[in-house]
Amino acid sequence: MKTIGLLGGMSWESSLEYYRTINVGIKQALGGLHSAKIVMYSVDFDPIEKLQHNDQWEETSTILCEAAKKVERAGADFLLICTNTMHKVAPHIENEINIPLLHIADATAETILENSMRTVGLLGTAFTMEEDFYKSRLTEHFGLEVLIPSDDDRKIIHDVIYNELCLGKLLASSKREYLRIIQSLADQGAEAVILGCTEIGLLVQPGDTSIKLLDTTLIHANKAVERAILTA
Ligand code: GLU
Repeated sequence: MKTIGLLGGMSWESSLEYYRTINVGIKQALGGLHSAKIVMYSVDFDPIEKLQHNDQWEETSTILCEAAKKVERAGADFLLICTNTMHKVAPHIENEINIPLLHIADATAETILENSMRTVGLLGTAFTMEEDFYKSRLTEHFGLEVLIPSDDDRKIIHDVIYNELCLGKLLASSKREYLRIIQSLADQGAEAVILGCTEIGLLVQPGDTSIKLLDTTLIHANKAVERAILTA
């Protein structure tokens, strides 16, 4: 079994889900007392969040590149960045390490194509929904069509992520708003909605909607399990 490298802490609320999902996946696949071989570096998210909102992405990249190199030195065979948003600096991180990066958007797009879908809604931080680093990967590399919520709804999604979900707050009122926004993406023709922020699955689960939800945390973590075992 290969050793999975995790760059976590963004936020730790979702990193917990990665740790749990990967271990459950390895146990299901290999049985008995098997558990995942994991090296994790969990950052302090507070300074990173401040840098993001100050548009100081180079500084965030420096922090993550250092952390990624530590994960590599500790023996990881491949790396997962446990957040969609910080894939904005994924190309820099890839340049700094010698192990492969399992990109969260690639893992998600492969799952969409496996399900024979083409038009998907995308929920995430404003960075993920509005900028090109994530959407263009889905559209240009995988030929998908990506729908995003309206300006006002994007603000609601973004604010709930940073002011509630990353702090472990799960509010019924926010869940209602998320479900309304998911339904509006379905009404516009989305065949599924990407939960493109690793904390959203804490608030909204598949049973809550009639449209298929693609939880990037679960997809990414399960791809890591597949890769760890396949290349055993
Ligand atoms: N975990 C979130 C994501 O998947 C947001 C936190 C961050 O800014 O990294 O985008």
